[in-house]
Amino acid sequence: MVTSSTSDKKRTVAVIGGGAIGVAAASFLLRDGNDVVLIERSGIGEGASFGNAGCLNPSSVVPMSMPGTLKKVPGYLLDPLGPLSIRWRYLPTLAPWLIRFVQAGTQAKVRAQARALKPMLEDSYGAWLPLVRNAGAEDLIRRDGHLVVYRTQADFEGDALGYQLRRDNGIAFDVLRADELWQFEPSISHDYTIGVAFHQNGHTVNPNRLVRSVAEAFRRDGGRVLAAQAHGFVREGGRLTGVETDAGVIPADAAVVAAGAHSRAFAASLGDDVPLDTERGYHVLISSPETRPRRPILDASAKFVSTPMETGLRLAGTVEFAGLDAPPNWPRADYLLTLGRRLFPGLAASYPEGRVSRWMGFRPSMPDSLPVIGRASQCPDVAYAFGHGHVGLAAAARTGEAVADLIAGRTPAFDLAPFAPTRF
Ligand SMILES: Cc1cc2nc3c(=O)[nH]c(=O)nc-3n(C[C@H](O)[C@H](O)[C@H](O)COP(=O)(O)OP(=O)(O)OC[C@H]3O[C@@H](n4cnc5c(N)ncnc54)[C@H](O)[C@@H]3O)c2cc1C
Repeated sequence: MVTSSTSDKKRTVAVIGGGAIGVAAASFLLRDGNDVVLIERSGIGEGASFGNAGCLNPSSVVPMSMPGTLKKVPGYLLDPLGPLSIRWRYLPTLAPWLIRFVQAGTQAKVRAQARALKPMLEDSYGAWLPLVRNAGAEDLIRRDGHLVVYRTQADFEGDALGYQLRRDNGIAFDVLRADELWQFEPSISHDYTIGVAFHQNGHTVNPNRLVRSVAEAFRRDGGRVLAAQAHGFVREGGRLTGVETDAGVIPADAAVVAAGAHSRAFAASLGDDVPLDTERGYHVLISSPETRPRRPILDASAKFVSTPMETGLRLAGTVEFAGLDAPPNWPRADYLLTLGRRLFPGLAASYPEGRVSRWMGFRPSMPDSLPVIGRASQCPDVAYAFGHGHVGLAAAARTGEAVADLIAGRTPAFDLAPFAPTRF
């Protein structure tokens, strides 16, 4: 059992969604002595939490919408290997989100967003440790650092504001010249001439197994896992009495919405119209790769991450706006393989059937790069914990603790005001 903290009374709490966020929240709620039921409609850890790049990066305080991002968009869209694509049919639906995204990218706003993200991402490796230790799964997380690499000085200088935001928030890094970079990470191509090393960052070698292991420990410690789809809330006199699922109504005094990219309708039903959309992302995983980096590497010029996983080398990234229903566009994943070969010249020119697997998942994304963490407007018994975009794995443990604090009526360890559902 994770070390117990004080709690005043035992309540039944239903957590909707068994991704990294829901599983972490359920674990901390159980630690508080609540009766916790985790409701998951497909498999634990099989949503966005399955195929991400595994990075546990306190350095990810830099928002997605930055001053100047808009100017780069046409170039990204025209490049078939570019990091961004939009299904044009989806544009009318996406337009309000995109407008907010652009509006979020001012100098003043990105500074405020980075300040808000800092405590949620702080020592992300250390935040996961109690959950991972309790699960006996310490082998799944490492603190080997993180490397960002650039082909040109101009690309590096283009990210100057991002490094300033990190400095302003006390995040240390070393800039490596070409010869230092190639020595630090021998697997990469010498076309990359500048590197930035974050020594305090961590990663998991298997995000899905990480989430499943913590969920198994939750169940072992007395938590309940229900394989069902949640549909909505049952309330009496303004208080929550249950969660409607396709397995019937689950009685509950409190609930947490952690359904990732699928959370919007739950919030809307409680009076919170939050602009949640999805940035779809892809990965390819090469089993038994010919070469593997010592730590995760972000190719900042091509915008993808390569992570050494226990199952192979994962190349993950891209942002695709196409909503929740359109089928995957697998060439987006295949491009990652092309980009990976540019970064790692040691990779084979082709792979036989079965050596490379492909995946697509739905990042739950808010236009201001800040998740929604807070109480529902029309029902204080329901807490939201969704919308973590590109950093949900890194932020999961601290978010889970904050949610347990909210449900217990304690003051969370970091300020939740920037994450309020009513901020729009
Ligand atoms: C390519 C890619 C790379 C990424 N790399 C990183 C990274 O390196 N580091 C990082 O921190 N983040 C990364 N992310 C982001 C990270 O994966 C997400 O932010 C995180 O997984 C979100 O977790 P979640 O629990 O909110 O959502 P999910 O993992 O999607 O979980 C939500 C769960 O809710 C369930 N659900 C939905 N609706 C219902 C319902 N009605 N009833 C019951 N269950 C329901 C779903 O089945 C799902 O299991 C990456 C994402 C992608 C796509």
